[in-house]
Amino acid sequence: MTTQQDCRALDAQDPLAPLRGHFNLPPGVIYLDGNSLGVLPKATAARVADVVVREWGQDLIRSWNTASWFDLPQRLGNQLAPLIGAGRDEVVCTDSTSVNLYKVLSAALNIAREDSPVRRRVVSERSNFPTDLYIAEGLCKERGLELVLVEPEEINVALTQDVAVLMLTHVNYRTGAMHDMAALTAAAHAAGALTVWDLAHSAGAVPVDLNGAGADFSIGCGYKYLNGGPGAPAFVWVHPRHADRFWQPLSGWWGHAAPFQFTPDYQPAPGIQRYLCGTQPIISLSALQCGLDVFTAAEALGGMAALRDKSLALTDLFIRLVEERCAGHGLGLATPRDHARRGSQVCLTREEGLGVRGQGSGAYAIVQALIARGVIGDYRAGSGAASHAGKGDGGPRLHKDILRFGFTPLYIGYEDVWNAVEHLRQVLDTGEWQRPEFNQIHAVT
Ligand SMILES: *Cc1c(COP(=O)(O)O)cnc(C)c1O
Repeated sequence: MTTQQDCRALDAQDPLAPLRGHFNLPPGVIYLDGNSLGVLPKATAARVADVVVREWGQDLIRSWNTASWFDLPQRLGNQLAPLIGAGRDEVVCTDSTSVNLYKVLSAALNIAREDSPVRRRVVSERSNFPTDLYIAEGLCKERGLELVLVEPEEINVALTQDVAVLMLTHVNYRTGAMHDMAALTAAAHAAGALTVWDLAHSAGAVPVDLNGAGADFSIGCGYKYLNGGPGAPAFVWVHPRHADRFWQPLSGWWGHAAPFQFTPDYQPAPGIQRYLCGTQPIISLSALQCGLDVFTAAEALGGMAALRDKSLALTDLFIRLVEERCAGHGLGLATPRDHARRGSQVCLTREEGLGVRGQGSGAYAIVQALIARGVIGDYRAGSGAASHAGKGDGGPRLHKDILRFGFTPLYIGYEDVWNAVEHLRQVLDTGEWQRPEFNQIHAVT
């Protein structure tokens, strides 16, 4: 049995422990939701204040040059590139994940279908994050193409000769399951299709090697594991073999080869710069830079490889402690035990019918009770039926309700994991989660 003292000893030996000092964590909180909104780096408030007060307030429009505002998307892209196995000048930080997906999926479809017009399908995973499916659905509708949604084990079979693009999220947001990017990219290429990889739950969470995998297009999120702040700019990567082949559809002036010549016609910039659209959110980009700076500081301590080792140790510990200490409460494990298939989060399921008055799963209420104790994770509803506590209609359920816990090795320690599980044990053993206030549904879960 692992004890609290064992966990303390692991923290004392942890070479990455100093990284926690880069963040402002509120006292009394164990934050296991860095996969949804990352925490605040200590440097961010002063940096944003400097951008606002000095760069904007004093230097005004001169700051596009004097404060290097103009190339901030490219500079941040270069800072991010090593985390995802991208090369120099292959990434820009810009726009949202949803908007960037629209750009790269359009470009991928153009390229795949120019080479082979019979290809009219986009294949993705049924449990992909909704915005990815919605963007793909919209594009397919606009172009008369077909979106095919499959389960993970059906992907290879779905890669038929009429597939243009395989669009996947590397680490699943509901289960924390991670795809084998290299193998699936190779399978897609063997079938003549291109790949689009969403790294929303991968960038800064697990080592990624886009170039090593031979991937074609990729996008990802700035406000999750990269700690860029709410609504932070996202990023986009395009393999150099494709970057110059097509305009992306949002052909705004920031993607122009010479925006300040103000020509009436569009001439796309070479390379990844054409994936910019309009004027960039400099204050938000500056905040994102503070998040990326922590990863740059982590380089000296072993970088993503060391972060990955710790992340797996934290998630292994959490799984083991939940199984040892919270047995008999209907919890299951949705996240793969196999390290090669696990991201940086652990998702627990709960059986239907275990909620208050036998309705729903109670997962939502358990998460609320934990949040009230300062252990912040989140809840994701099962699919196929109204699934909140007390509202289940008993219809068919493709997926169970999920209690989701993200483990960010930059600032979570082993004793945090111990304490989180101890709170979960108490919430379950005492039935505290059954209180009415924990069974009220809020807009954002
Ligand atoms: C979080 C997330 C997004 C978010 O998209 P936004 O445009 O930032 O709202 C997209 N895709 C996946 C897979 C995500 O996990």
